[in-house]
Amino acid sequence: MRRFLSFTTLLAGLPLVIPAHAEQTFSFQQTAGELPKTVAPLSYVIHVATDMDRLSLTGQETIKVNVLSATAEMTMNQAGLKLSDAVLDNSIKADISQNDTAETVTLRFPQNVARGVHTLAIRYSGPILKTPNGIYVDDYTSPNGEAKRMLVTQFEVADARRMFPGWDEPAFKATFQLNVALPADYVAVSNMPITATKTEGQGQKQVSFATTPRMSTYLLALVAGDMKAVRGQADGTPLAVYAPSGLEGQGEFALHAAEKILPYYNSYFGVKYPLPKMDMVAIPGNYQAGAMENWGLLTYIDNVLLFDPKNSTPRTRELIYEVVAHEMAHQWSGDLVTMGWWDNIWLNEGFASWMEIKATDKMNPQWEIWPRQHETREETMGTDALSSTHPIQQTIHNVSEANSAFDGISYGKGELVIRMLEGWLGEDRFRQGMRAYMKAHAYGSATSQDLWNALSGASGQDVGTVARSFTEQPGIPLVNVATSCQSGKTVYTLSQSRFTIHDPTPKDQVWNIPVVAGAPGLPVHKLVLGKAPQTFSVAGCNVPVKMNLGESGYYRVRYESSAFEALLKIISTFSAVDKANLLGDQFALFRSGQAQLSSYLTLADHILEANESNIAVIQEIIGKFDVLDDYLKGSEDRDAFRVYARKSLTPVFARLGWDQKPDENVLDTMLRPSVISALGKFEDPAIMADAKTRFAQWLDNPDSLRPDIVGVVAGIAMKHPDQKTYDIMAGKVRSTQATEVKLRLFNAIAGATSPALIEQNVALAYSGAIPNGRIASALARVADSSENPDLVWKLVKQHEADIRTHLAPWSQDGFLAGIAVYSDSAHIAHELENDPESGKTTGAKIATAKALSEISARKEAMQAAQSQIHAWLSATHH
Ligand SMILES: [Zn+2]
Repeated sequence: MRRFLSFTTLLAGLPLVIPAHAEQTFSFQQTAGELPKTVAPLSYVIHVATDMDRLSLTGQETIKVNVLSATAEMTMNQAGLKLSDAVLDNSIKADISQNDTAETVTLRFPQNVARGVHTLAIRYSGPILKTPNGIYVDDYTSPNGEAKRMLVTQFEVADARRMFPGWDEPAFKATFQLNVALPADYVAVSNMPITATKTEGQGQKQVSFATTPRMSTYLLALVAGDMKAVRGQADGTPLAVYAPSGLEGQGEFALHAAEKILPYYNSYFGVKYPLPKMDMVAIPGNYQAGAMENWGLLTYIDNVLLFDPKNSTPRTRELIYEVVAHEMAHQWSGDLVTMGWWDNIWLNEGFASWMEIKATDKMNPQWEIWPRQHETREETMGTDALSSTHPIQQTIHNVSEANSAFDGISYGKGELVIRMLEGWLGEDRFRQGMRAYMKAHAYGSATSQDLWNALSGASGQDVGTVARSFTEQPGIPLVNVATSCQSGKTVYTLSQSRFTIHDPTPKDQVWNIPVVAGAPGLPVHKLVLGKAPQTFSVAGCNVPVKMNLGESGYYRVRYESSAFEALLKIISTFSAVDKANLLGDQFALFRSGQAQLSSYLTLADHILEANESNIAVIQEIIGKFDVLDDYLKGSEDRDAFRVYARKSLTPVFARLGWDQKPDENVLDTMLRPSVISALGKFEDPAIMADAKTRFAQWLDNPDSLRPDIVGVVAGIAMKHPDQKTYDIMAGKVRSTQATEVKLRLFNAIAGATSPALIEQNVALAYSGAIPNGRIASALARVADSSENPDLVWKLVKQHEADIRTHLAPWSQDGFLAGIAVYSDSAHIAHELENDPESGKTTGAKIATAKALSEISARKEAMQAAQSQIHAWLSATHH
């Protein structure tokens, strides 16, 4: 699954976790889970009849089960269903006992069922939901203005149980043959191709799909509605991109991406894509994740699959490529080989997040996507430095905890650790290990230990010793760098400690860190740094060397001052990613209290004064200026800081200008909106005046602005709008169907600061104008960009019951924490902590603990920034 991690969702994690020690290779009986392992399904034949008006379904299924030890009871999952009848081997009627809290049903038989294969026939009924989980509907407006209803499924983490009773845990793999009764005019797609279509009475038809390979329940999928497709093929596999009829042409870009990516993956994994076709579907709006890797039927929210040349931005084009590459990587990592239990979700997500970047970079080197992963690294490490972080591999007891594990640690840290391991082992040996892993576990399940064994086999290195120190321990290592001059050589001595922010009692830990060191014109030094300090030397005294060359390692670096000063002198000779890396580490050292803020600002000044133009570097600086501006909320130095920030960024804007140049580098095109937005935030008078003029012109003529500029121009103009202009914009938010444009417009008005407009924005977010799957993030956006999170909190609490009826279960746990996290008020923190919802599930407890730790860390950072910025501004005469 591709989750879109806002700052707040990154904060989900488990504070009191026991790291998964001495993990074993996969074993069905030993793997964690909630269901007994006495019975395992082999195959399901499922018939579902839908009533799209009453939003209900009736189902019957025949499950071939393997009874592994004689039992008179079979417990499986169901959620919201009502079982009317269950019969074993055509004759033995079961007593049915449902537990709706545990989301299970237990079938009891008059006597023990013998070991071996049996057949279970079940009849049931249930609802079709409106929230985006399980089997649900998406009501939308077609391109010609008609009201339409689409049928969609989303089963990960644990919602297959809302469509059929079954063993809904990933290790219980089986085959599935799906049959569904639908309105006759619906186009239906599932994991496998259609084998038969039968017309039934009353405008209905029954569609049957071919039997799937052996797979986990969470990967089954069905989408049906008024859709059309564009089609292609790659390596002999038919490919299609489906969209609401009339929009299918916007699927061409994703289709061409898939045509390039599939042959690359076929070769990389050494196993050819195993299904007879691959379909991708754009879901118009009502969707919770970014996308989902259902085997053979990849689903996406429309804005990450459809490219509309009139309204989409260059960044959207790139995002589509990344998300398609991510979901396609899952067809192997996740679908063909699946983690045994959710404690290893990072195996799916870390790997797919790494592979999406690797494949996107391979096909589109012009995007310089690896250096730009610096942003992901900073976000991930920001979370991983706090006391509330958790190891990549963590104990997961239930669905609520499993949901919370889809966070920045599983995705971001997983990606960065895999990248470090690939760099350490070498691209070829790493790929060889991946091929062995795929071959050994195809159609089965695996643990991290299985992956380490395969990589060790391919490389001859003890991969587990290095990898486990990053996956089984929380937090970030810090490499401390000391230098001395001995016999005409600079001797570098490296040692390690733990890097933390706002954590008074960090647990001491030791990592095995693959370190890469070097500088332009010098040989590269590679070593694995363990507990004992290590040294290397370079010819000449005071020769600067940078650690973490290419930012390929998951650690921070602290140089003693002479080594840092030496680096500063040759800073302009380093690549963009190394500059961004030094900046990121220096800011982090300020956050942890190990460096003054001035060391970051001096470094940024040095880099900007050399006319830096690279997007990765400029966005790093913009990001930190933005954070500092937030830290200075309420400080009398904020205006002076803004003057400094504007002065720093004005040369960058002067080079880019408002208008795209002919043959402009796409990275400049992507950088322009960030620079304009930052200057707008820092209240640059010229930018603000220009933005207002352009906004007024755009209101008259929407073609007067390119799509990538609309959001920032409107955002600046909508800080303090009059009611009439606000109403026009809110009307556009309501009437726009395309999610990309809708969210662009909503995000622009979310920055309005007047209390009356904040209240209207909160109401708009859950009025039906924003799709259900995006309500929680829309409200978080209002809390963040209005700079009045406390008012948003108050309004959300007033309307909480109403808002929650629109949210899917997996949004419920972190919903309140996601608003409160933007506050720096002890009062709001206290309210969050004591809210009954905060303690209701383990997922909610986790989200609350993370938000509370983030709030108190920010308070500390605000105090430090406010006192240090004053001294720095006066000392440097800014
Ligand atoms: Zn994913």
